[in-house]
Amino acid sequence: MNIAIVGTGYVGLVSGACFADFGHSVVCVDLDAGRVGRLAAGEVPFYEPGLAELVQRNAAAGRLRFTTDTGEALRDALVVFLAVGTPETPGGAADLSQIAAAADSLAVALDGYKVIATKSTVPVGTGHWLEGQIRALAGRPVELDVVSNPEFLREGSAIGDFMRPDRVVIGTSSTRAADIMREVYRPLFLIETPILMTDVATAEMIKCASNAFLAVRISFMNEIANLCDAVGADVHGVAKGMGLDKRIGSKFLHPGPGYGGSCFPKDTRALVALGAASGVRQQIVEGAIDVNARQRQVTLEKVEQAVGGLAGREVAILGLAFKPNTSDVREAPALYLCRSLVEAGVRLRLFDPVASAEAATFLTDLAGSIRFADDAYDAATGADAVVIMTEWNEFRSLDLPRLKAMLRQPVLIDTRNVLDIAQVRALGFDYHCTGRAQVSKVAVAV
Ligand code: NAD
Repeated sequence: MNIAIVGTGYVGLVSGACFADFGHSVVCVDLDAGRVGRLAAGEVPFYEPGLAELVQRNAAAGRLRFTTDTGEALRDALVVFLAVGTPETPGGAADLSQIAAAADSLAVALDGYKVIATKSTVPVGTGHWLEGQIRALAGRPVELDVVSNPEFLREGSAIGDFMRPDRVVIGTSSTRAADIMREVYRPLFLIETPILMTDVATAEMIKCASNAFLAVRISFMNEIANLCDAVGADVHGVAKGMGLDKRIGSKFLHPGPGYGGSCFPKDTRALVALGAASGVRQQIVEGAIDVNARQRQVTLEKVEQAVGGLAGREVAILGLAFKPNTSDVREAPALYLCRSLVEAGVRLRLFDPVASAEAATFLTDLAGSIRFADDAYDAATGADAVVIMTEWNEFRSLDLPRLKAMLRQPVLIDTRNVLDIAQVRALGFDYHCTGRAQVSKVAVAV
């Protein structure tokens, strides 16, 4: 099948490469000529495990092409996926201007029946609006069906998530479009992936509600972790005990410095805005957003207490990406912490296995107070404390005696609980983690 993908960011590029790997013929279009040029040369503009190989293999096989010309991309396509960005407006609602611009180009380029499938995360009602918009802009009868096909992949494991998803959601009221979408996903049908057919609005709501629910779980566990610190319980044991209950499940019960990334922060705020606009306030999600903002403050206070006052200190930050296995630093908790620490008079040494260059573009205004290090030990050299902000695997196997030898004082703040408390304490670190304060004290006694 001939497929066009509009937008070659994380979602568009992974979808395009995976659809090509399914055997479809895919053309990816992006406004960013620099990005298209790099992709055409086989270079992936961000870090995602396995993606460069997948892109190169399918491009070499002639199933994957890149262009800046929407008309050319659409010419032979039966299905057009929209994977453009949906950032937020200053008021917190979803900014649909990239979707609107894509609708403009589609209206001009449509030359026969097409399925327009939205992969971007959009507020409920967008599909309905999009169809009207394309028809109005075309100013002539056009044959099309608009489908909602939300994407659930996670950065860092995007290819596996796309190839073996928990479910595929297809929202449409057209049987013609439904049959075509089933054909697009036939390889997943064959491995018995649940394919959920709904109407457009329900599919849109499934995505918004899923992201909001996951954000609520994280904020809930962060509050429980803070309470564990105060009352002497171990949040790891609590999460394990809760997770064994099948009604709860074990995923997304890990506390940390708050959620970040390009999705949860904006998608929760968009749901709250949609609720407000619809007269149905979303108080639980509002609470999750507030708790997340508070958790950033909790992390800052933890560093302040651990080093005994911030002004004039030097702190090493390990991990800048919002999660491991990605170079994406959008709304990363580490970047919030960097900014707060510098404002408090701290000088920073930063290290991330892949995200340093991307982080540097977000922190240009802090240039006088930050330095990027070559590795964790370089970052720790002469620092008053080390703070682990992203749970990269390489931080789980740090050479701790070497790290300690580099530090001015052996203060280690492990916001993601990646280290073994007994081992760290036995080495003489002043160790601080999340929701396990009591455990770390017990370990001292041992
Ligand atoms: P992104 O910002 O990485 O990429 C968007 C791309 O679209 C950019 O390359 C941009 O140049 C291009 N673009 C914008 N307008 C265009 C137009 N009119 N024509 C052609 N190209 C255009 O975004 P992303 O992270 O891939 O997210 C895309 C959408 O998918 C968002 O709605 C997001 O919420 C959703 N989503 C993201 C993830 C994720 O993990 N990143 C997961 C699920 C869903």
